[in-house]
Amino acid sequence: MTRTMKDSAGALGIGTRLAQLGRMSDTHYGFVNTPLYRGSTVLFKTLDDLEHERARYSYGTAGSPTLESLESAWSALSGAAGTSLAASGLGAVTLALLTALKSGDHLLMPDSVYLPTRALCGKLLARFGVETTYYDPMLGAGLAALVRPNTSTIFLESPGSQTFEVQDVPAITALARERALTTIIDNTWATPLYFRAHEHGCDLVVEAGTKYLSGHSDILLGLVSANERLWPRLKETYRSMAMLPGAEDCYLALRGMRTLHIRLQEAERRGLQLAEWLAAQPEVATVLHPALPSCPGHAFWKRDFTGSTGVFSFILGPGFSREDLARMLDAMRIFGMGYSWGGFESLIIPFDCRTYRTATVWRAQGLCLRVQVGLEDFEDVQADLRAGLDRLTGRRA
Ligand SMILES: *Cc1c(COP(=O)(O)O)cnc(C)c1O
Repeated sequence: MTRTMKDSAGALGIGTRLAQLGRMSDTHYGFVNTPLYRGSTVLFKTLDDLEHERARYSYGTAGSPTLESLESAWSALSGAAGTSLAASGLGAVTLALLTALKSGDHLLMPDSVYLPTRALCGKLLARFGVETTYYDPMLGAGLAALVRPNTSTIFLESPGSQTFEVQDVPAITALARERALTTIIDNTWATPLYFRAHEHGCDLVVEAGTKYLSGHSDILLGLVSANERLWPRLKETYRSMAMLPGAEDCYLALRGMRTLHIRLQEAERRGLQLAEWLAAQPEVATVLHPALPSCPGHAFWKRDFTGSTGVFSFILGPGFSREDLARMLDAMRIFGMGYSWGGFESLIIPFDCRTYRTATVWRAQGLCLRVQVGLEDFEDVQADLRAGLDRLTGRRA
């Protein structure tokens, strides 16, 4: 697939922008990268400076060059008015929700949302008087029927976690504009490189930097970018909570950012190759990859996204037992079994969304697995999965 990865906001190509964004070489003796600033205290020279807060930086929680490099780079990359950071992706989801909501509000959440986000709504937000209604992620303009007088916010996650439904984002943000609602989208899968969430009308955009931005499974980080309307409120919420990430994690995220486009291109190529191969295996019933027509919302992906990444799911044919699955997974050699994704290593994880969905009925019969394709040699990755499928069927052969 050839595609010019031009950022629609600027004349420079995406690789050039990723190489240049957030750098402050002039203030760091010419060194290419912004150094790792650790610290709580920032010293003022005079009483007058202190009283008038006349300093570029004033205290650790109020920012440092390391954090600012990442924030400014992410805002530019996302086409946002501003970005605030969090110590994890889930922290960024929390920050975005606390920015948008107040006590007594009603919130709309897709049934396909990242599971810990669901827990946050049911526990913490409920305790603060926010009521959540789950909706079928395939609803677009039809979501209007669920809007109540006290609805303030529509949350989106596209594609959905584990099940990869791609949402009709423009239809939902049009509805939100018409009813003066705030929209938040979890854009972790696509990143701003493959889905321009603010340009599609989203107010707040969440990215788990833990995944592709980091790219190496060695940090936890979250980012929330805001458009002009929401930026003052996001900044205020962030400053009140002061739940910022450590400087070293921001430094590593900036390092990851420099190669994000190259890693995503590889993830896309390998992801598609593995998805198409899996779709042709006799043990596999359905592949849920946004770039394949078998994925719900594929037409929206085709219309709105400029690429796909290396995480997707597949559903096995009916009749396999937990023991069959254990035989398959326990002996994988390349694929590790673990949460998260976006790193250099291949991962596989089973899931069962029948246990928590409330707005939709999951009709698939077979066991479900999510894979993340890593940077190992593709032949090894594919052979490991094929051997796994052989073990799955072994007893029945
Ligand atoms: C992983 C993930 C998160 C949470 O990120 P953490 O850094 O692990 O807290 C949020 N949303 C989505 C879609 C994710 O995949």
